Parts: sequence; structure tokens; C-alpha cells
Amino acid sequence: MNFAYLTSLLTPLQLYPWHFAALTLLGVVLGAALFAVLVYRRQLKWQQESTEQLEENIQTRTFELQVALNELADKNRILEEQNTQDALTGVRNRAYFDKKILAELKRSRREQRPLALVMLDIDHFKQINDNHGHLAGDAVIRGVAQRIASQLKRSSDYVCRYGGEEFALILPNTDAQGVCELAEQIRLTIAAAPFDTEIGALQVHISAGCYAALVAPDMLSTDFIHAADQALYQAKKAGRNQIKLAVASDPAEPAAPEGNTDELLQ
Ligand code: GH3
Ligand code: MG
Ligand code: MG
Repeated sequence: MNFAYLTSLLTPLQLYPWHFAALTLLGVVLGAALFAVLVYRRQLKWQQESTEQLEENIQTRTFELQVALNELADKNRILEEQNTQDALTGVRNRAYFDKKILAELKRSRREQRPLALVMLDIDHFKQINDNHGHLAGDAVIRGVAQRIASQLKRSSDYVCRYGGEEFALILPNTDAQGVCELAEQIRLTIAAAPFDTEIGALQVHISAGCYAALVAPDMLSTDFIHAADQALYQAKKAGRNQIKLAVASDPAEPAAPEGNTDELLQ
């Protein structure tokens, strides 16, 4: 290859410099455009991948959060159960009763359905403690609670340990006849068989005071408790091992203690 041949190659460049310049510029522009497209596509893909990764992370975290929230809700439920549970008997405690009676009073008033309350007390329980010791007494209290609970068929009925060897039953949507039938059934179930304790089987009886009413606007939970308590007092006074119903002549004045369930229980 000689010099003349090489210079002959340059001849078109010398003849058409602007064409070459334009072609070169076009090449550079096309190259740059292609490069830009490639970079753009790569960036788009990267962005897509990061978005997918982000979505996947969010989904995983949301699922983990949901699991943690469910566990927390379960633990709260268990804690709430424990806070409202009587340690000796496993039934609801007094704090639960105080809250529940207010809620059921409101509901009964709103829905215009009768609400019933039973106050139930073990007869001559001091003798059990005195003669057989407190542990035997505790076993009897536990047994009585279990037998009461076994007689409640509606999920809306509640048995609460009101104190000592006294229980309170909240029975929504239950009238005077219904509450007397249930209380009598519980009395019979408790009298039917003795309770196992570490010193042997012990027989006990219970007395119960019942009250049922449609809740009037000015009625308080204390009106219900007082009425059922008075009926319990009447049952004790009449010889124990029986139930009495407090009769409300006027729903606004519910604490009329006289009257018994003899007719209702026929
Ligand atoms: P009544 O027939 O009039 O009810 O006579 P009672 O002997 O049962 O009298 P009362 O209801 O007043 O007796 C309650 C007794 O219950 C007194 C208390 O020592 C006992 N007691 C209260 N709480 C517990 C408990 O958790 N365990 C035991 N073993 N005894 C308790
Ligand atoms: Mg008693
Ligand atoms: Mg008592």
C-alpha cells in the first residue's frame, strides 16, 4: 500500500467534507440515542425489580405484623379472661359482675326484654369450715360453682362469684317464671349429691333469691341486687334450702321482698 493510494482514499473527504461531517454527526447522534435507550431500559428494569422487591417486602412485613397483632389480641383476650375470672372457682369474678349487670341493664332497657338476677348462698357454710377446715370448704365452693355453671344453657347467662360462698347469676331475656325454674333446678342439682373433698363427701344445700323485671328508665343495678338480696334473706328466714322470688309491684320500686315461688314452681 503506497502513499498515493492512501491519499486517494482521502479525496472524497476533501471533495465532500460537509457530507462526511453530517454523516459522522448522524452516527454520533444515533449512537448516543441508542446508548440512551439502552440506559433507560436498564434503569426501567432496575426500577421494576426494586418495586417488585419493595412490594414483596411490604407484603411480608404486613403478614408478620398481622400475625403479631393476632397474637397480641389473643394474649389480651387471655389476660382479660384471667382478670375477670375468680381464682378459686374459675367462674367470673365480682369485678365482671359489676360491669356485666350495668351492660345488661342497658340492653334490657333498650330491647325491652326482661332481665333476671339470682343471688345464691350456701346454707350453714360456716359449719363446713369449722368442722372440716377451709380446704374442704374451698372444695365445696368450687363444686357448687361447677354445678351452677353446668345448669346454664344459654351462652348469654353468667354465673359470678359475688363473694365468699355467694354467687350471682345474670340471666338476660328471662322472666320471673324462667328464673324460678332455673334457680329451682340448680337447688335440686346441688342437693342431689354430696361434693368430693379431701376429707370425704360433704352434702350442702343452697338458698336463692330471684328477681326479674323489664328495666324501667330510672332503675339502677342496685335495685336489682337489693331485690334479689331481699328474696334470698326471705329464703334463709323461711328455713333455707329453697328459693324465693322478689315480686315487683311497680317496676320503679322493685324491692318488694315478700312473695314466694310456690305458684310459679307448680
Ligand atoms: P347461712 O345459711 O345463713 O348462709 O349461714 P352461713 O354459715 O353460710 O353464713 P355465711 O353465709 O355468712 O357464711 C359465710 C362463710 O363463708 C364465712 C366465711 O368464713 C366463709 N368463706 C368466705 N369465703 C370463703 C372461701 O373462699 N373459702 C372458704 N373455705 N370459706 C369462705
Ligand atoms: Mg351461707
Ligand atoms: Mg354468705
